[in-house]
Amino acid sequence: MGTAPATHSLTAPTVNALADGLNKGEFVPFYQPLWDVQHQCWEGAETLIRWQHPTEGLIQSDTFIPVAEQSGLILELGAFVLRAACQQMMHWRQRGLPEGIIAVNVSALQIHQPDFVEDLARILRDTGLPAPALELELTETLALEDTPILIENLHRCQALGIRLSIDDFGTGSSSLARLQCCPVTRLKIDKTFVTHMTTEPKDRAITESVITLGHNLNLSIVAEGVETATQQQLLEKLGCDVLQGYRLARPADAETTEALWPGRSV
Ligand code: C2E
Ligand code: CA
Ligand code: CA
Ligand code: CA
Repeated sequence: MGTAPATHSLTAPTVNALADGLNKGEFVPFYQPLWDVQHQCWEGAETLIRWQHPTEGLIQSDTFIPVAEQSGLILELGAFVLRAACQQMMHWRQRGLPEGIIAVNVSALQIHQPDFVEDLARILRDTGLPAPALELELTETLALEDTPILIENLHRCQALGIRLSIDDFGTGSSSLARLQCCPVTRLKIDKTFVTHMTTEPKDRAITESVITLGHNLNLSIVAEGVETATQQQLLEKLGCDVLQGYRLARPADAETTEALWPGRSV
């Protein structure tokens, strides 16, 4: 659907280049809509950060996120993304778009900060975004980790009313029993399963099992990386709640994403 914006990956940037880009305000939040199968409408969007590099062009997250994580710059970048995403969703609400959820990816280092939840509460206060409109995405390995600070911070987020979802579900080797104690509301099936689901019986079996398991635990299920009509049809048949992928919409800047949103009153 539509043509992809010119986006490319280059070799990993240096820490200095990344810090420089941050200081110069070269990072731009992109948004990828989430499609609600039952209601046949957009339910919100996931924020995916891009680096608008002056000479290299638009750089994808996976090129620089690992460098940001290893260097600790993810704390500054992550705080910027959270604030920008909350501001954007609040702006969309004020412009009369249907009330949606804004999802933001959170790294291990961020959520292990003792003041993570205070910072988050301040962002919600400053922007005016209601907590249930914000969803944090944590990878499976991180979300189901058994460290006191992580468990405390997740419960404090839950107490504030913020939603939590487990990203890349199925790729980690966590104990499923931990899912019961983790205050999450949603699982995102990793796109590797979605990609091969229509051709590989094992990937289909895993996808089906995650949907069943999630529903039995009262969790909503998102499938990411949906690229074809066949994948979409199968996921809908299997009862998947939310779809995300190039088939529905590509990640794009705020303006492009806004134009996709039906029911706008502006
Ligand atoms: P993720 O959270 O698993 O995000 C999904 C990735 O799949 C995104 O890559 C997205 O652009 C891509 N994608 C979406 N639909 C499709 C599809 O239909 N087919 C295919 N092949 N790919 C699709 P992206 O934007 O390069 O992000 C890569 C990873 O970087 C993300 O994986 C996430 O873990 C991380 N990331 C992105 N933004 C942030 C951020 O603000 N903070 C943190 N901590 N991590 C971020
Ligand atoms: Ca994600
Ligand atoms: Ca994912
Ligand atoms: Ca991923």
